Amino acid sequence: MASRMLKFTKIDRSMPDKRDAGQRTGDFDEIYADYAREVAEDQAARCSQCGVPFCQQGCPLSNNIPDWLKLVAEDRLEEAYEVSMATNNMPEICGRICPQDRLCEGICTIEQSGHGTVTIGSVERYITDTAWEEGWVKPVKPPREREQSAGIIGAGPGGLAAAEQLRRKGYQVTVYDRYDRGGGLLIYGIPGFKLEKYVVERRIKRLEDSGIRFEFNTSIGEDVKLTDLRDKHDTLLIATGVYKARDLMVPGAGCTGVHAALDFLTTSNRKGLGDTVPTFDDGTHNAKDKNVVVIGGGDTAMDCVRTAVRQGAKSVRCVYRRDRANMPGSQREVANAEEEGVIFEWLASPEALVDDEAGNLKAVRAARMKLGAPDPSGRQSPEKTGETFDLEADMVIKALGFDPEDLPQLFGESALTVNRWGAVKVDFATLETSIPGVYAAGDIVRGASLVVWAIKDGRDAAESMHRHMKKLERSRAAAPVAAQ
Ligand code: FAD
Ligand code: SF4
Ligand code: SF4
Repeated sequence: MASRMLKFTKIDRSMPDKRDAGQRTGDFDEIYADYAREVAEDQAARCSQCGVPFCQQGCPLSNNIPDWLKLVAEDRLEEAYEVSMATNNMPEICGRICPQDRLCEGICTIEQSGHGTVTIGSVERYITDTAWEEGWVKPVKPPREREQSAGIIGAGPGGLAAAEQLRRKGYQVTVYDRYDRGGGLLIYGIPGFKLEKYVVERRIKRLEDSGIRFEFNTSIGEDVKLTDLRDKHDTLLIATGVYKARDLMVPGAGCTGVHAALDFLTTSNRKGLGDTVPTFDDGTHNAKDKNVVVIGGGDTAMDCVRTAVRQGAKSVRCVYRRDRANMPGSQREVANAEEEGVIFEWLASPEALVDDEAGNLKAVRAARMKLGAPDPSGRQSPEKTGETFDLEADMVIKALGFDPEDLPQLFGESALTVNRWGAVKVDFATLETSIPGVYAAGDIVRGASLVVWAIKDGRDAAESMHRHMKKLERSRAAAPVAAQ
């Protein structure tokens, strides 16, 4: 039989159907449909099965991409699922929200030869969505139970990946989170139009069914002391993410109508989950009929502008101090936002927020910028041109990035070492912090990053925690002998 693969010269690249902008802005559902079976098989068959698969090197999890593409092309989906889930705890989530253009797909060989990249992310999503539909995704059943226990602080992707890996080895695992639901930014940060909530909820349910305990509404450092957790568990993981919003330092920044991005997004996500949210119902975090200006150029800013559109804003603008080519957010998301009616003010930086006598926001005064000489990282620095302009605004959303909270202070652990930005310092070979037996993973180590990196860290930390517990077990077993 002729090979099913290497079809990239015969079959054009094709993404799953995207809903029309007019239709999709009326709800918070995902904008991409799933592939039909034949389309997924054809798209997977475009892969040239490179001897040195660059795609795999571009994936933080080193996913075995060529193998699962071949299995999909050969209609061997259950095997494709087995290969895919062996290296990734949430392939269907990464398939939806990884910035593939900067990772696996960005260096796909056939993209380099001008044929358009293999749609790796969409096929990855298709495999595991199908696995869920077919009932192939089962709770974890460890081969044997172990008595030792791990405590995990934070139920975001980093903490969840570590919890699953440790449970696979039979450890007793408890995940603590100050939120009332699991998922971290997957549930309360990232909007449904990128990642529908049932996709996250079914993952949490599966982990519960696997025997992992979740203690929600439990803030470590406030409700429970870190020292108590250390006494309770044989090892701990800190996977608390970064939540301290960077502030806007311009005159008028304190006026009514100025909001932090995560307050706005969390409110919207909670509303979508069916919660009663007073700050939405009283209009505080609701963009309906407002002129909205979002400040920032990252993924969070893109999520804010597109949420504001869906809430029925009168106008939505995004103000960013560099140009389109130099923005940190995904180009795919910018294109989606533009299709949905968002106006981008590139090379613009807020100078002041203008309010009325009652202190209510009226406008954003912005300076027109140009790109100057490159900084030490090679990135061109924005410089003022001297020109300013006003944008009418009833609501400003600050999406300027996040910093870590002061964890040594929150946890009452001065022995926990952090770097000058407040991120937890780890030994990069083991992810162990300055406190023996306590590990850290995800954004709290890297600063604001990506879901796929949090999963990678969670998996790596779980390996180190396993080694730590094995060592403890051996030394405990040896102790009575030594005492004789
Ligand atoms: P988090 O997901 O932040 O989870 C940390 C958890 O720890 C939270 O549940 C929190 O409640 C809990 N916690 C914190 N402190 C305590 C405490 N003291 N006690 C108990 N629990 C605590 N990445 C992508 O790859 N693609 C995207 O499209 C994308 N979009 C994004 C959009 C937005 C709006 C934001 C803000 C981020 C986005 N990211 C995206 C980044 C991604 O969400 C993060 O990199 C990832 O979630 C980090 O995972 P984490 O497990 O380290 O932390
Ligand atoms: Fe690409 Fe992300 Fe999937 Fe890796 S996990 S193959 S980077 S979509
Ligand atoms: Fe296939 Fe592209 Fe990966 Fe090569 S780089 S193995 S063509 S997906």
